[in-house]
Amino acid sequence: MTVNTQDKVLALTGELIERHSVTPDDAGCQEIIAQRLAQLGFTIEHLDHNGVRNLWAHRGDGAPHLMFAGHTDVVPTGPVDQWRSPPFTPTIINGLLYGRGAADMKASLAGMIVAVEHSLAESPEVPGTLSFLITSDEEGDALYGTQYAIAELKKRNIKPDYCIVGEPSSSKLIGDVVRCGRRGSLNGALTIKGVQGHVAYPDAAHNPIHEGLRVLDELSAIEWDDGNPYYPPTSLQISNINAGTGATNIIPGELQVLFNLRFNTEQTSAGLKATIEELFDRNGLNYELQWHLSGEPFLTQSGRLTEAVTDAIEKETGLAPELSTSGGTSDGRFISPWGPAGVSRVEVVELGPTNATIHKINECVALAELAPLARIYQQIIKSILT
Ligand SMILES: [Zn+2]
Repeated sequence: MTVNTQDKVLALTGELIERHSVTPDDAGCQEIIAQRLAQLGFTIEHLDHNGVRNLWAHRGDGAPHLMFAGHTDVVPTGPVDQWRSPPFTPTIINGLLYGRGAADMKASLAGMIVAVEHSLAESPEVPGTLSFLITSDEEGDALYGTQYAIAELKKRNIKPDYCIVGEPSSSKLIGDVVRCGRRGSLNGALTIKGVQGHVAYPDAAHNPIHEGLRVLDELSAIEWDDGNPYYPPTSLQISNINAGTGATNIIPGELQVLFNLRFNTEQTSAGLKATIEELFDRNGLNYELQWHLSGEPFLTQSGRLTEAVTDAIEKETGLAPELSTSGGTSDGRFISPWGPAGVSRVEVVELGPTNATIHKINECVALAELAPLARIYQQIIKSILT
């Protein structure tokens, strides 16, 4: 690569930041990316659905198939007057590029494009398949983004072997942490039903708070597992409890509870649900329970991609990355189990810039990270597609 790699990544990142692409708005970002990829011989397709823009671009055919995945949408800016520069005007101050989406994840998208441009300039006839799956609905409900696009691609028997997700995985230095999996996330909305009545006549009422406290105490005391080498122990957190009208003389009729589980690969969502429902039934609760699964946990099998990523980072920075499963969910949860359940999974690694400012006021990315990120992506392409 030439000395102007940083300028190239910077220019494209800035172009993307200028677009007000708050979820699920793509605001023209994918068109910019599509034009760059079309010039490189990629076949461009839009898998749009319900107001969500999804870009599928691929070049070449057969194995190995390396896919880059990412999102053009950004989270809202928050109070604009608290930003040191307008959030949709890319602004450089003291070696940092400011703008909403700078780190999550427009710099990654720009780095991927420049990496592919440089790779193909170096050797136009790469074997296998290179592809991009870019959505404008990662930060939102994520129903019509990556999940929808994968369903469409599966109908055509398309499945990548390896996937790099550009989420900002790094902690202090570019490449110091990559994500090789994520915990699962399961939400429960519980309503415990009692019988409302006057506090002076408890025999004629049934207090769901008293009953709930006992059961929730038992629920929160469950030790699910000890974790494993890749994951911390599974944790259940009660996040909301509501009951009562404000009156001091009424036993309320209902107690409402919200709780969330962050769980590892020692558990499944089905097993967690069964355990919790058994606990409620055993205690004779009269309840309603609604579940919402944000994602099953995944742990990528450590294979050729993990090795290529580790080698590329070591070559660029001299440091070995930490393989981590920390952080929130990402679209990696949809990509990893691409094939039929339990079979032919995709090896997925998340690799992007440092994440200290993501989703915050004054989100920024260090200029010094831009060229190394592009070079690391380029090196990975070289290792996988040879
Ligand atoms: Zn992101």
